[in-house]
Amino acid sequence: MSTNAVKKKSGGMKFDPNWIYLILCGAIVYWFVTTKDAMPTEKQIDWSDFQRYTRENVFSRMTVNLKENLVLAEVKPAHQKAVFGDTVPPIRTNAWGETEKPSVKTILPSADRFSDFYDKTKERYDIDATVKYEEGGNFWLNLLNGFLPILFFVFLWVWVMRKMGGGGAGGIFGVGNSRAQIYDKGTANKKTTFKDVAGLSEAKQEVEEIVDFLKTPQKYTALGAKIPTGALLVGPPGTGKTLLAKAVAGEAEVPFFSLSGSDFVEMFVGVGASRVRDLFAKAKAKAPCIVFIDEIDAVGRARSRNMAMGGNDERENTLNQLLTEMDGFGTNSGVIILAATNRADILDKALLRAGRFDRQINVDLPELNDRKEIFVVHLNDIKIDETVDTEFLARQTPGFSGADIANVCNEAALIAARGGKTLVGRDDFMNAVDRIVAGLEKKSKITTLEERQAIALHEAGHATLSWMLEYANPLVKVTIVSRGKSLGAAWYMPEERQITTYQQLQDEMCATLGGRAAEELTLGKISTGATNDLEKVTKQAYAMVAYYGMSERLPNLNYYDSSGQDWGTFTKPYSDETATLIDEEVKRIVNEQYLRAKEILA
Ligand code: ADP
Repeated sequence: MSTNAVKKKSGGMKFDPNWIYLILCGAIVYWFVTTKDAMPTEKQIDWSDFQRYTRENVFSRMTVNLKENLVLAEVKPAHQKAVFGDTVPPIRTNAWGETEKPSVKTILPSADRFSDFYDKTKERYDIDATVKYEEGGNFWLNLLNGFLPILFFVFLWVWVMRKMGGGGAGGIFGVGNSRAQIYDKGTANKKTTFKDVAGLSEAKQEVEEIVDFLKTPQKYTALGAKIPTGALLVGPPGTGKTLLAKAVAGEAEVPFFSLSGSDFVEMFVGVGASRVRDLFAKAKAKAPCIVFIDEIDAVGRARSRNMAMGGNDERENTLNQLLTEMDGFGTNSGVIILAATNRADILDKALLRAGRFDRQINVDLPELNDRKEIFVVHLNDIKIDETVDTEFLARQTPGFSGADIANVCNEAALIAARGGKTLVGRDDFMNAVDRIVAGLEKKSKITTLEERQAIALHEAGHATLSWMLEYANPLVKVTIVSRGKSLGAAWYMPEERQITTYQQLQDEMCATLGGRAAEELTLGKISTGATNDLEKVTKQAYAMVAYYGMSERLPNLNYYDSSGQDWGTFTKPYSDETATLIDEEVKRIVNEQYLRAKEILA
């Protein structure tokens, strides 16, 4: 029976330890206020009144406090009514066990004056009050009165600091905590393994080694090898970097901390560094484990050398802390840091040196075969009919990332469901691809007949040229159905190639200019419809002249700084004359292709 009762008590009520602090605080405040008030037995009176009362022999005992220059005098019961009036204070015991009789208190002009006054009064009047001199007041009372407010604030301060530093939940006091999400064996709802990652065979091979480090570190340490501290996954967004990192954690069966570089950034100074410390402390406690920092360029950007420019001190502090923590690890502490970025070139060199992120793993956009595999993975959960062919889908989605493909599969299923189908077919996938590339179909967009004609001619120009030109990308489809922002579109199937020749660039530009050329030739007037084309062509031409060294007057010169170190300096790496030359060359190249486009169309 009694054990039952105990059980009930401990299990039934949830007790938040913060309540203790609150109750203690409350008690202190209450005590402080009441002890201050706990002297209603003392009535303060003037010195002249005090003198009068003394002569009238009202007091039985006087206690002179020399330090504070005041006297406390107990009033004889017979005179209490005269002194206190109707509200005679009762006799009571104070917190220190002393009895407090009803008394009055007065400030003395000085202790000497009091003793003079007392002696004189004693000679002339018949008084029997005893006098006691005291150095200070009640020692403990003084101490407490003096220190209690200080104690209270110290207490409050300690409490706030503990909430800031400790595992307090949320609020502004949690700013110093890292924002890492942890996927542990217990919390993982579904373990990610290498099977979920399609393609990326080279990257997988690299990270498999990391899994091995985590699983059997002895194998490496026995030979005196050091376990690497970090690996950097470099690649465009949506190519499966996070997925890969999760798969590593899943395969190695270790906890996985996931956070984004921007999670370190906060408007308070010093918070970033404190979050880095917190993250590493947590990770070390859980070792062996994996820490995954997505978008590490948010903190890892090269520190500016140009101090005069101000620079972002807070970000640099955070980065410095990160560098220090990565170094401070014992090499075999079992914490491996994976980071992802799509811009490894702008990262601080110190991050990339050996002992930190010494491995770089490239995660590129998937090639045809990889896309096929990714489709296979994502079609697993989708009910498809026999018209769906992964090979065809992979061909239709050049330049798509893994995330895009996952999106296509989901979108196709949604489209099919909207159409009330039981299976997802090929058309649904094609619609999904269209939608993801160009945006939602705008059936309500009103175009005049004239506009539609212009759009049709424009797109026909693109189509004709890409048909006629040897190196232009093959055409997939032309449409004047407006989607998203565009009014019409000609879609190409870019060849998947790693290098592009001069001729290919020329033909591509020519085909891109085909739209405007067609408008000019057939309608005799040009429109704003070609804005996007022109932007593309101009950029391309600048790249040809300034980066690829492909112009006649500036051959084999490249003005691009791939190290990213000169970012922020305002000087161009070339003279004003060269700048003029570049402009002229760009104009010439674009113009040549425009004339060529018109010629072919004509
Ligand atoms: P990143 O971190 O590179 O931006 P993610 O790893 O977050 O990209 O990928 C987003 C989603 O895209 C994943 O959840 C997954 O569904 C899909 N995905 C990307 N790459 C692949 C791949 N290689 N295999 C299977 N799915 C992929």
